[in-house]
Amino acid sequence: MIIGVLGGGQLGRMLALAGHPLGHSFVVLTPGEGSPSSPVAETIVADYEDPDALRELARRVDVVTYEFENVPVATTDLLQELGVPVRPQPEALGVASDRLREKRLFRQLSIPTVPFAPVDSPEGLEEAVRFCGLPAVLKTRRLGYDGKGQRVLRKSADVEGAFTGLGGVPQILEGFCDFKREVSVIAVRGLDGTTACYPLVENRHEAGVLRFSRAPAPELDPETQAKAEAHVTKILDALDYVGVLTLELFDDGVELLANEIAPRVHNSGHWTIEGAETSQFENHLRAITGAPLGSCAARGESAMINLIGEHPSTEAIQAVPGTHLHLYGKSPRPGRKLGHVTVTAADSSTLDARLERL
Ligand code: AMP
Repeated sequence: MIIGVLGGGQLGRMLALAGHPLGHSFVVLTPGEGSPSSPVAETIVADYEDPDALRELARRVDVVTYEFENVPVATTDLLQELGVPVRPQPEALGVASDRLREKRLFRQLSIPTVPFAPVDSPEGLEEAVRFCGLPAVLKTRRLGYDGKGQRVLRKSADVEGAFTGLGGVPQILEGFCDFKREVSVIAVRGLDGTTACYPLVENRHEAGVLRFSRAPAPELDPETQAKAEAHVTKILDALDYVGVLTLELFDDGVELLANEIAPRVHNSGHWTIEGAETSQFENHLRAITGAPLGSCAARGESAMINLIGEHPSTEAIQAVPGTHLHLYGKSPRPGRKLGHVTVTAADSSTLDARLERL
């Protein structure tokens, strides 16, 4: 099939790399020249809302998917009017790009979360603080990613000025979760409603940015896996979702609390390229093209390290057994995700030794 992708970042690049062996080809719509996907996909360089570019995309492809959640509604509306299927369905974008709608969906589905309250004014923030308590995390409802658009309120003095400090846009206050660890569950739902879940991943963030993932999450017990699978399956079914979806959770040692969803392939799933029977990228493509899903079973133990800001020496990485280097073709810049390394091993002590060397 010919697959259209909105967004030309590394996720689009890895989708295309996974799709070529299956006989698919790709047309990417992206506003920037020289995007990470451009060496592996045909590219239309235009704004996401450019009607001519969208008409061209619709004419050239069989199905459209996306690799980021802030796709404008006008874009998906026009594509659907033009008769090209958009998968996952745009309803998922509406939920995932608004932290309040997301949390309300979790609550509606009886999936535990931290306490939360909408905040639309400085007075509203004070009321929300009375409800959630301190410490708490104030976040913009929209356009926040990688820790941007949020701040931790630890004491009463932090509350004053916080609403305007985040730009005075609609916000959400969340109780602060003193989690033991952060985990994510990556799941896929096919066109026929079949679902499959990868083993839980343990994630470490620094300054809101994912640094390190390990899969399966250490000391993962079957009850925790089953709980996460039940939560994410409810979300997939409620949205009548097709494709890969990621649910990020806080593990506080007692409960798994839902933090957010990403309606797409996810950085915490990059390990699946070498570490699972079927990668998240292939399973996303299988889902949106109506093919049967592949097994999500892990092949041994894996860890993924993001390469942020600068390239380490390729030779040094490749000297460690079990490493798989992925570079995204981006020029170095502080804070930029330039690539990742996945390390695989048959057992956790071998993986630990390899990570130590890395
Ligand atoms: P988010 O953009 O919601 O994924 O937040 C980025 C990171 O900030 C998360 O991965 C957590 O490490 C941290 N964080 C977000 N919300 C909370 C919360 N309510 N309590 C504690 N930490 C949080």
